[in-house]
Amino acid sequence: MPTRRKFITSSAAGLAVLAAGRAAAIAPLPTAAPAGKALVISTWDAGLAANLGAWKVLSKGGRALDAVEAGVMVTESSQNCCVGLGGNPDRDGIVTLDACIMDDKFNCGSVAALERIKHPISVARRVMERTPHVMLVGEGAQQFAVAQGFPLEPQKLSPDAEKAYREWLKTSQYKPVVNIENTGNKKVGPVGGANNHDTIAMLAQDAQGNLSGSCTTSGMGFKMRGRLGDSPLIGSGLFVDNAVGAAAATGQGEDVIRIAGAHTVVELMRQGLSPTAACKAAVERVAKIKGDKAREIQVCFIAVNNQGQHGAFALQKGFSYAVCDASNQQQLINSGYLLA
Ligand code: ASP
Repeated sequence: MPTRRKFITSSAAGLAVLAAGRAAAIAPLPTAAPAGKALVISTWDAGLAANLGAWKVLSKGGRALDAVEAGVMVTESSQNCCVGLGGNPDRDGIVTLDACIMDDKFNCGSVAALERIKHPISVARRVMERTPHVMLVGEGAQQFAVAQGFPLEPQKLSPDAEKAYREWLKTSQYKPVVNIENTGNKKVGPVGGANNHDTIAMLAQDAQGNLSGSCTTSGMGFKMRGRLGDSPLIGSGLFVDNAVGAAAATGQGEDVIRIAGAHTVVELMRQGLSPTAACKAAVERVAKIKGDKAREIQVCFIAVNNQGQHGAFALQKGFSYAVCDASNQQQLINSGYLLA
């Protein structure tokens, strides 16, 4: 499946193209000294803005770990994206957030079912750096966040999420719609934002060649209370092995968990597959397990190897990922997909 690339430069013309396609305001890349092998990739169109947040760190020679935290914080702050407190709630009308982060030394941290905290990714990092644990959930995670000085935000839905929830209550049926990016004008999936996915995952390599990754989500909209997907799970939503590469997932979390998705992609790269080939092989595994039901879901992977090569693959059409590197160019790449 050939991959179509959209090159979006930081030139005025490039920004005009971008402005026509998406509402997000993307500033030109900082023109600081080239950051060696530095590179950042992230899922979906929202990755363009998030990558710029990461690039501010990478272009100054900063750590990949700092970059992947700063990058996804941009998305967590956005009310126009189904990530963070602006995301869709669970079936009881409450937004619950999941996030994880992993560095180049197998250090990792995660929070799940976290309520009323704006930046779950930063809480995940504190779990990694300031506790003996990897994962905190629910009330305990919130208690920890507050003790660490994170403010408790009001328990309130964003206008889009409120609208989507009211609509959903008319049937109260949990029927996730296949995740795709709304790159055209037609809205897909449930109301509530320009797309129907709820996650950003990001992978970065810094000028020292070290890898890190992050993943943050409001989870599947209208999920059962207490449901967790792949996104906070190290090995499913995200995995980093500095000697090999890093991978992350988005899409139907239950089906990513079934194959320990991100870890599987990294192991396939360890066996010599390119990032794209490894993502494709993992998607094929999901498709084989799902059989006739494969068309009902979306699963997408992104990956970077330790040589700085990147790639992605999805089960269905409609997945894009954003790339930013020292060539001073931003790209939004439409991923290859399995089901024609
Ligand atoms: N993977 C996320 C979850 O299952 C959803 C998404 O990527 O949109 O919670």
